[in-house]
Amino acid sequence: MDNKINWDELGFGFMPVKSNIRFSYRDGKWSDPVLTSSYDITLNVAANCLHYGQAIFEGGKAFTCSDGRVCIFRPDENAKRLNSSARYLQMPAIDEKAFVEAVRAVVRDNIEFVPPYGTGGALYIRPVMFGTSPQIGVNASKNYELIIMVVPVGAYYKGGIKPVRAMIPTDLDRAAPHGTGHIKAAGNYAASLYPSRLAHDMGCSVALFLDPREHKYIDEFGTSNFIGITRDGVYVTPKSPSVLPSITNKSLSQVAEDLGIKVERRPVAVTELADMAEVGACGTAVVITPVGEIVYGDKVFKYGDTIGPVLQKLYDALVGIQHGTRPDIHHWLFEA
Ligand SMILES: *Cc1c(COP(=O)(O)O)cnc(C)c1O
Repeated sequence: MDNKINWDELGFGFMPVKSNIRFSYRDGKWSDPVLTSSYDITLNVAANCLHYGQAIFEGGKAFTCSDGRVCIFRPDENAKRLNSSARYLQMPAIDEKAFVEAVRAVVRDNIEFVPPYGTGGALYIRPVMFGTSPQIGVNASKNYELIIMVVPVGAYYKGGIKPVRAMIPTDLDRAAPHGTGHIKAAGNYAASLYPSRLAHDMGCSVALFLDPREHKYIDEFGTSNFIGITRDGVYVTPKSPSVLPSITNKSLSQVAEDLGIKVERRPVAVTELADMAEVGACGTAVVITPVGEIVYGDKVFKYGDTIGPVLQKLYDALVGIQHGTRPDIHHWLFEA
């Protein structure tokens, strides 16, 4: 297939590719996965996912490495987290090896959509699992679909990394407190749209959420984890039951330790924002977004208008591993 993609113009948006891969859960067990070129699903109007929200997802990436291999970054971690989300929403677990093999199969089938090395792009991998049984009573669905789709995405930073402004929503009557409860669920995202709108209206591109109980501790940004670098060069990230366990954060923490940077995972009081040297938001889509400013009521915390040296070092190290230009000492890359 000649896909004629202009790799330099790719953004982060939907585009059809050759195939997606699907598992169906019927009579208490998962089917073998099937590749299909269709983007359609047939769903009963009374399907559980529409009414009661049994719907979870994952996000990962495949990259073309400098030696031409196509490698998937930590799909085993996506499998584990998918199963963890599934458990909390009373959905069935998938065999982790079968999941990883299906990810490899769909990436291989769409290999011509993996952006070449040097473009900064990636093949974004988006698994989604949802309950399909028709029902009116609130019960777990009997049947499920697990579909793994892929889409090429461009380099997030065209023309250099630029820090963003963040806002902590304080109008809590209107801004639903965030709290994913460790579940990567569609519903959490729907609930974050309104506070994100409020942040955008204030000229801030991301919302930063505090703990829902006391509003004293930092949880995370709307779609990414919080990393602070203290003036002593310590990597600090919140330990909280409301934070979604980010694979990027887990990887960056490891990379930091490998570089001799001290890592602390602990409750982070919002008052500590005044003492941070660098702040970043981390997730699969962007790796690290430096945060230049955080608006909190009538206070503004400022961290500069370029990415700080420690976050830059961590970014380079992780991106280097993903593109095969730095040694993959922890075996994070799975060749497609
Ligand atoms: C997916 C997600 C993240 C980032 O996780 P990664 O595995 O690093 O992509 C952070 N916060 C929330 C709420 C998420 O859903």
